[in-house]
Amino acid sequence: MQGQTEYDVVIVGGGMVGAMLAAALGHSRLAVAVIESQEPQPYHVSDPMDLRVSALSLATETMLSATGAWDGVQTRRSCPFRHLWVTDGEQGQDTRFFSGDLGTTHLGTIVENRILQLALVDRLKSLSNVTWLCPAELHSFDISDTAVNVTLSNNDRLTAKLIVGADGARSKVRDIAGIQTAKSSYPQHALVASVTTSFEQQATTWQRFTPTGPQAFLPMPGRNASMVWYHTEEEVARLTGLSDDAFLAEMTETFPAMPGTLESVQARASFPLSCSHAKHYVKPRVALIGDAAHTVHPLAGQGVNLGMLDAAALAENLIETAAGQHDVGAYRRLRRYERWRRFDNSVMITALDGFYHAFKPQPKPVRVARALAMKLANDITPLNKVITRYAMGTMGDLPKLAQP
Ligand SMILES: Cc1cc2nc3c(=O)[nH]c(=O)nc-3n(C[C@H](O)[C@H](O)[C@H](O)COP(=O)(O)OP(=O)(O)OC[C@H]3O[C@@H](n4cnc5c(N)ncnc54)[C@H](O)[C@@H]3O)c2cc1C
Repeated sequence: MQGQTEYDVVIVGGGMVGAMLAAALGHSRLAVAVIESQEPQPYHVSDPMDLRVSALSLATETMLSATGAWDGVQTRRSCPFRHLWVTDGEQGQDTRFFSGDLGTTHLGTIVENRILQLALVDRLKSLSNVTWLCPAELHSFDISDTAVNVTLSNNDRLTAKLIVGADGARSKVRDIAGIQTAKSSYPQHALVASVTTSFEQQATTWQRFTPTGPQAFLPMPGRNASMVWYHTEEEVARLTGLSDDAFLAEMTETFPAMPGTLESVQARASFPLSCSHAKHYVKPRVALIGDAAHTVHPLAGQGVNLGMLDAAALAENLIETAAGQHDVGAYRRLRRYERWRRFDNSVMITALDGFYHAFKPQPKPVRVARALAMKLANDITPLNKVITRYAMGTMGDLPKLAQP
C-alpha cells in the first residue's frame, strides 16, 4: 500500500529474483515492500527480441505457475525446447538429451528477461500484501535489535523486520551489511547476439565447447534466435567492432551448421564473466538472494534458476517463521535458509567451474577422459536422465513451490 512505511519484509531489487520472492510471499500474513529503481519497459507484440534472455528450468516454470506468473510469460513471448545438444568441438564427441526420454513435454523454456520480470511484476501488483515502490532506490539502512531502518534516495524512510538484497551482482545491501564475497573472474567475455534466421522456430538448444570458449544457440519464437559466443576479451572486442555483415559471415563460418542461414543481426552486446559467492547469505535482519548472493559462469544457463530457488526457499522459511509467530528477521531462523541454499549453490558453482576448466585447452589425456565422460553420459540412459534432471532443476532438495 503506497504511503505505508512499516513492513515485515523490504526487498531491494525487483528484478526477476526479487519479484519472484515478493510473488511467493503473496497471500501470506507478511507485509512486503519491493524497492526497484527501474520500471520494466512495457511489452508490445512488435517489439524486437531483447538481448538478455534466460533458459528457464522446469523447476522455475513450476514456481512461476504456482505464483500465478507463468500465464504472463506465455501470453507474451517464450520458446520451449525439447532437445539439448552438447558437443565437444575439439574431440567431436557429443551428448544429447531429449524430453521424451524423461516423459516431459519439454526440457525448459527460453524467455526474455524483461518478459519474465514483467509477468512477475504484474502478478505482485495484484497482491494486497505487497507494495511495489518504483522508481525508488535504496540509499542506506541501519539495523537495531528489533528492526531495519531503510532510507531511500529521495529521503523516504521505511522500517521492516528483514531487508532482503535481491539487487544483483553489485549488491548495495550486501556491501552495507559488510558481507564479503569470494570472487574470481574468467579470462572470457560473452558476446550475445539476437539474430533473425531463415528457418522456423527450433526445439533444440545447443552448446559447442571449443578451446577458446563455448558457443551457444538458444531458439526464440518465430524466426529468431539468441546466440552466445564466449571468447577472450580482445576477440570479443574485435567481433563487436565488425559490421553486421562481417559478423554474420564469421558466425556462419565458425558455428556448427544450422538448418538454414542467419539472415540479420538485430542487436549485439558483450558481458564480462565472473564467479562470486557471498561468504554468508544472512546476518541478523539481512538476507541475500540471486546474483546478490552468487554469480556463476552462464555456460549452463543456471544463474537465474538458482536465484529463483533461493527466492522460493527464503519465502518458505519466512512463511513458516511467521506462521509460528516468530520474528522473520531472527538470525537463528534465517540460518536455515543459508544452510540450505548456500550448500546447494556451492555444489552447482563447483560443477560449473569444473565444466569450464575441463573444456579449456587441455593435454591429450584430459581431452580423452572428457570425450569418454561425454560418451558415457550419452550412452548410459540412467546417467543421461540424472544429468538432465539436474539441468532441469527437478533434482535435489527443492523448496515446496518448485515441487511438481
Ligand atoms: C551473458 C549472460 C547470459 C546469461 N544467461 C542466463 C541463462 O540462460 N539462464 C540463467 O538462468 N541465467 C543466465 N544469466 C544470469 C542471469 O542473467 C542472472 O543470474 C540474473 O539476471 C540474476 O537476477 P537477479 O534478479 O538476482 O539480479 P538482476 O537481474 O541484476 O536484478 C537486480 C535488480 O535490482 C535493482 N537494483 C539494483 N540496485 C538497486 C538499488 N540500490 N535500489 C533499487 N533497486 C536496485 C536493479 O534495477 C535490478 O532490477 C546470464 C548472465 C549473463 C551475463
